[in-house]
Amino acid sequence: MVFDFHTHTFWSDGELSPMEQARRAAQRGYRVLALTDHMGVGGVPELIRALKADREIIERYWPITVVVGVELTHVPAEAIPQAAQCARDAGAEIVVLHGETPVEPVPEGSNHAAILSGLVDVIGHPGHITEADVREAAARGVYLEISARRGHSLTNGHVARLAQRHGAKLIVNSDAHAPSDLLTAEFQRSVALGAGIDADLLPNVLQHWPEELLQRVRARRGG
Ligand SMILES: [Zn+2]
Ligand SMILES: [Zn+2]
Repeated sequence: MVFDFHTHTFWSDGELSPMEQARRAAQRGYRVLALTDHMGVGGVPELIRALKADREIIERYWPITVVVGVELTHVPAEAIPQAAQCARDAGAEIVVLHGETPVEPVPEGSNHAAILSGLVDVIGHPGHITEADVREAAARGVYLEISARRGHSLTNGHVARLAQRHGAKLIVNSDAHAPSDLLTAEFQRSVALGAGIDADLLPNVLQHWPEELLQRVRARRGG
């Protein structure tokens, strides 16, 4: 069973509609799929409303849990707390940060601002995250992502090493933009092992921590 807390639909730069994404994910053995399109501040309420309308139908007829949220992307680091609050106010159940990847000019300090905000659940592709920030993430219950996405995945080894040293919680996400990016349980496991995660830790990374994150975001479900 796959948990994937970071994917994109055609509401940003993904290829699929939310319904097709959910359909294909269910076919691949997903239990949980988060829809986290790229956002700043504008348009967030409209996005969340649209995703929730589709989610209602998806969950009524197919055996998959859909989490509705955003990926705060290329927001000035200083404005990340405000953008995260705006997303939460709009009903986002999960807030992912588009982290400081080695392959894009994400503003320096974004990882740090998101971890300290208390409003961001997951640092997507945290890149060359500092050791101090990994410690903060561990202390504050912010999940760090191991990315299955090309480019962003270049620093997976660094993230896995520091997270294991300091007890930060890791999860493996697809960051899917196209149907072929969606995970299978086997591929997700292979990405985790390839990042250097100890085999002993796999049940936590692939099951227990995602389950715990799901409980957290489920508690935010409203109308
Ligand atoms: Zn991203
Ligand atoms: Zn993404």
